[in-house]
Amino acid sequence: MFKIVSIPGDGIGPEVVASAIRVINTLARQHGLEITIEEHLFGGASFDVHGEMLTQETLEACRKCDAVLLGAVGGPKWENLPHEKKPEAALLGIRKELGLFANFRPAKVYDALVNASSLKPEILAGTDFMVIRELTGGIYFGEPRGYDDTRGWNTMVYEHYEVERIARLAFDAAMKRKKQLVSIDKANVLESSQFWRNIVHEVHKDFPEVELIDMYVDNAAMQIVRDPKQFDVIVTKNLFGDILSDISGMITGSLGMLPSASIGSSHALYEPIHGSAPDIAGQNKANPIATIASAAMMFEHSFCMKNVADEIYSAIEKTLASGFRTADIANPEDTIVSTTEMTDAIVANLEAS
Ligand code: NAD
Repeated sequence: MFKIVSIPGDGIGPEVVASAIRVINTLARQHGLEITIEEHLFGGASFDVHGEMLTQETLEACRKCDAVLLGAVGGPKWENLPHEKKPEAALLGIRKELGLFANFRPAKVYDALVNASSLKPEILAGTDFMVIRELTGGIYFGEPRGYDDTRGWNTMVYEHYEVERIARLAFDAAMKRKKQLVSIDKANVLESSQFWRNIVHEVHKDFPEVELIDMYVDNAAMQIVRDPKQFDVIVTKNLFGDILSDISGMITGSLGMLPSASIGSSHALYEPIHGSAPDIAGQNKANPIATIASAAMMFEHSFCMKNVADEIYSAIEKTLASGFRTADIANPEDTIVSTTEMTDAIVANLEAS
């Protein structure tokens, strides 16, 4: 039995989470799985009811479940709140409270969308790699930090355990894929990167089957757009991962297509990378695929059911191949479908398989 906490959030969040829940329920029926889904408030939706973005009740529910499925939070209504009350602060808060130290972002090209990228189809076709970004350490959190009239400063610092635990996760992920890991750093300039590199090599001794490649971050940025097929699993620090995961995502699709998983030692949260898209909220226009693919990541990582995850990816692929396009991924000649129609088609493909 699996327990999911669903947090629809704001804007298009409730629409895309509803789509993913239909997919989860379809698979639960097909595979005879007992999955309970409990909905909780978070973000602006929570603020309007409780006066706070993240309540203890929601946090406790997230701590007690097997996986969290999040839509998106934020929007113009809550934009002018003080910094510590904003939805973004609540997002950082929930990640911190759940100890989610690793962010997984797949860069996978769907055949049907190979022409939609800014890269040439022959360079892109067959690209399928995973970026694993360290999420709770490095320069985004290091002390001292600050600025005055004459200087601004931040500190890039990693503890041994922080590098070791993410390296282990990354080697594990590589073992389940093509057994190649590229560790990205800037060891030619930064001491903290040399430290990172030393520890990744230490951990490598426990995973001798995995080919480990060190790459400098500037070269990695070039290689991802030059020849993305060369990668299988990438592991990197918070700052570099922030930038490289966006590059990797955008070469393979639109915001509406990109899922993510944030993983800790005992909790995991799955969410599309897009925001609450207030411009199309409530209009049944949002692309639900990023959230449905996030549910696929949940089956793979939290429930250890890669076969079920693959069924979801294959239903998405078939739906796209038969021409279904929400506005964000449509070419001028395409017929545009709604969130509900796209979800219906994916569910129908799952039921037919
Ligand atoms: P956004 O991702 O919400 O939207 C950017 C553009 O992409 C918009 O034109 C939107 O319509 C489009 N888009 C996004 N998701 C889509 C989907 N599934 N289908 C079709 N089109 C889609 O980014 P933004 O406009 O910068 O931010 C809007 C709000 O979302 C802000 O309040 C921001 O703080 C918040 N936000 C939340 C998260 C999160 O919850 N993780 C992430 C980013 C932004």
